[in-house]
Amino acid sequence: MSVLGADGKFTNPWPTWQPHTLGQLAKWWWAKEQHAWYGWLMGNEKASYEQVTAQFPVAPLDLAALGKPPSNAIQASWIGHATCLVQLDGCTFLTDPFFSQRAGPWNRLGPRRTVKCPLDVDDPQLPHIDFIVISHNHYDHLDVPSVQRLHARFGQHLRWYVPLKLAVWFEALGITNVQELDWWQEVPHPASSLTVILTPAQHESSRLGYDRRHSLWGGFCVRGKWQRVWFAGDTGYCPVFKELGEHLGPVDLALIPIGNYRPASVMRPVHCGPSEAVQIHQDVKAKASIAIHHGTLGWDGGPMDEPRHLLKEAAAAAQLPQDTFRSVQHGAVLQFPKHQLESTNGMLSKYKRRVELLLEAVSQWHGTMWAPEYFHAE
Ligand SMILES: [Zn+2]
Repeated sequence: MSVLGADGKFTNPWPTWQPHTLGQLAKWWWAKEQHAWYGWLMGNEKASYEQVTAQFPVAPLDLAALGKPPSNAIQASWIGHATCLVQLDGCTFLTDPFFSQRAGPWNRLGPRRTVKCPLDVDDPQLPHIDFIVISHNHYDHLDVPSVQRLHARFGQHLRWYVPLKLAVWFEALGITNVQELDWWQEVPHPASSLTVILTPAQHESSRLGYDRRHSLWGGFCVRGKWQRVWFAGDTGYCPVFKELGEHLGPVDLALIPIGNYRPASVMRPVHCGPSEAVQIHQDVKAKASIAIHHGTLGWDGGPMDEPRHLLKEAAAAAQLPQDTFRSVQHGAVLQFPKHQLESTNGMLSKYKRRVELLLEAVSQWHGTMWAPEYFHAE
């Protein structure tokens, strides 16, 4: 369950939490103003727009692949910033859809998009979107035009999962198929076999300044018959991820933020950097992770290519197998199969695999949703 502070607003109940002071926010804003919206690469502080975008080539979204998602794997694409398209058990969902040119009030203030968005909501070939998860109400995660375009295309059939006290924001836009969740609350998605769970995160919420922490924030675990995806949302590092790993791990695919960690004095409580992201990957027992929340908006507190560079270093330092936690190309469609055999292909894993196949066959014959992984997790 979420926690309210003495002021009656939502809060973060961990010793790692430290709210910003106004002085810190002013310092952050000043640092931001020192750099152009576009153009900060490692070793090139005044990079041109062309130089920056050349570092982040966008892959055309493979709509044919999205139209035929595999039955035995998660299929996912990083659309940019915190937006991912994920397919699991025949369902398609989006995380924090942001398609606009600017992330701020009236789409006129705030960071600009530097890297093009590979997804066009109005493309007739785009597969039906079943639901959307929204981590919190900051402008780069909850964007009015993106929400309106999705609503115009998919209408009231499209279900929105949001943290507590955010449904009213959707109702003001005429969107009523909205389910609010508290931390650790889980609900079945009515049109599929998926379960949606809101997970805690160390962050904040606000759109207009005065409404700081009025609505809740979090991440989402989407649990299917055999696999589960976890979207971290926006978060600083905190002890809850170990707990999450115990309750909901191992997760087959984690979507973890790695950017916007500068300056640390301001950002550390609310955003994790690459090395903390690797720690989160390990805490939640992720089999694979994709880096999000970097390399998309022009101003990220530092060079746009720094987070993915530091991620490589952090993953190597933690001795993660190659590509276990990677930064991927915008728009690339990737698959994460149901069963990844252990790298040591000894007798034990062969035996384990046979037991899993047998259990799977029995489970399918019996028509239950019992998954062998849960058996192993006990
Ligand atoms: Zn945020």
